[in-house]
Amino acid sequence: MTLLHVRSSISEMPPYVAGKPPVATPGVTRYKLSSNENPYPPLPGVVAAVDQAVRDSNRYPDVGNAELYAALAECLSVPTANLAVAAGSAAIIYDLLSSVCEPGDNVVYPWPSFEAYPIAVLAADARSEQVPLTADGCHDLGAMAARIDDRTRAVILCTPNNPTGAALTHTEVLGFIDSVPAHVLVILDEAYAEFVRMDDPVDGIAIATARTNVAVARTFSKAYGLAGLRVGYAYAPTEIAAALRAVAVPFGVSLPAQAAAVASLQLRSELLERVDALVVERLRVVGGLAEIGWDVGDPQGNFVWLRFPDAAAAAAFVAEAGEIGLSVRPLAGTGVRVSIGETEANTRLLDLAARMIPAPTAPKE
Ligand SMILES: *Cc1c(COP(=O)(O)O)cnc(C)c1O
Repeated sequence: MTLLHVRSSISEMPPYVAGKPPVATPGVTRYKLSSNENPYPPLPGVVAAVDQAVRDSNRYPDVGNAELYAALAECLSVPTANLAVAAGSAAIIYDLLSSVCEPGDNVVYPWPSFEAYPIAVLAADARSEQVPLTADGCHDLGAMAARIDDRTRAVILCTPNNPTGAALTHTEVLGFIDSVPAHVLVILDEAYAEFVRMDDPVDGIAIATARTNVAVARTFSKAYGLAGLRVGYAYAPTEIAAALRAVAVPFGVSLPAQAAAVASLQLRSELLERVDALVVERLRVVGGLAEIGWDVGDPQGNFVWLRFPDAAAAAAFVAEAGEIGLSVRPLAGTGVRVSIGETEANTRLLDLAARMIPAPTAPKE
């Protein structure tokens, strides 16, 4: 027995459940569609930059991340003073909440949404105010605004929302921010921004530039395909960006991660062509699902959200997917999130969905 003290909020933290790798079935190619990863491996130019960085890895990385800041500032046409980088945008979100919350303050966010939010809130010693999504998986912005009270320090908007894929419009976000007191930070989690193809898409950088209380969180993990290297960034008001840099773990973004991110920004147009190809695949999957009676809406990330009448039906789908080498992600009880992956994997998903007719979603009135 020890007398050590562990902060009480830590015992309340839900575990972060990561997407599982596919189970091995002899003779079946396996595909991981459970973590919204990019199916394309890093470009040769990125691999070369990482390779050189690995050779220099007896040295610490640049503590100031100077090259990465310069590359981001140029790419986004924003001042470096408004940027902060970290080991993934998950780290950015943890650090944003730690930067603005005092013990007992609260954070308003939609639910179901990114599974790291409740953990990040507790890590900041704050309380979660989870606002249910609407029936079609969208943020209920009116209810979110109404939930803000005098202890609210931050509101998170996740657009496109993980796991439902529904995205907000630029106009909706601006209108929402108008209803938020100026001392409350609005965090725009744009992890999937590059995959959005809709009218009036959110331009988080423009919004955060125009308003005084908005921070954008973005990542190299999804569209840029660097999930294993851990790099994300914030674009935020200068005092928030400065706070992020102050609380960040020194050398948090490793040398290979910095090098890969800089190289990826240089190779951006090539990477965004891959995003276009993934969007084409998303449209093929969504169209194929709709044809056989599944209503998945118009998801805007690199994933689709399949609804089931109950947890048993969702579990049965996950088990069937496993049998044919696909790992998919059950979430929030009655939904399964499936990433857009390799063409063959997506086709296999469509075959499975066709076999599992009748469609588990209730027909729309
Ligand atoms: C994947 C994801 C992130 C962050 O990922 P990192 O790998 O930590 O950059 C953030 N928000 C949402 C909604 C995500 O799905």
